[in-house]
Amino acid sequence: MKLSKCNDCPIRNDINCSRTKDSEAVKDFIYKGEKRFKGIKYNGCGCILKIKVRSNSSCPIGKF
Ligand code: SF4
Repeated sequence: MKLSKCNDCPIRNDINCSRTKDSEAVKDFIYKGEKRFKGIKYNGCGCILKIKVRSNSSCPIGKF
C-alpha cells in the first residue's frame, strides 16, 4: 500500500510530502518528465498524502 511507504519516509511532514525535506531516490526513474537517479537527494512534492496515494501521482523519490 502506498501510504505505508510514506509512513516511515523522512520527507513526510504530518499530512504532507514536504517540499522542504529531501531524501535519496530509491531507484533510477522518470519523474514528471525528468530523469532521477538512485542515491541522489530530491525534495518532496508538497502533496497532501491521503489524496496523493489515491491518485496516480508518483512519489518524488521513486517509492511508488
Ligand atoms: S510520496 Fe514518496 S517522498 Fe513523499 S512522503 Fe510518500 S514516500 Fe515519501
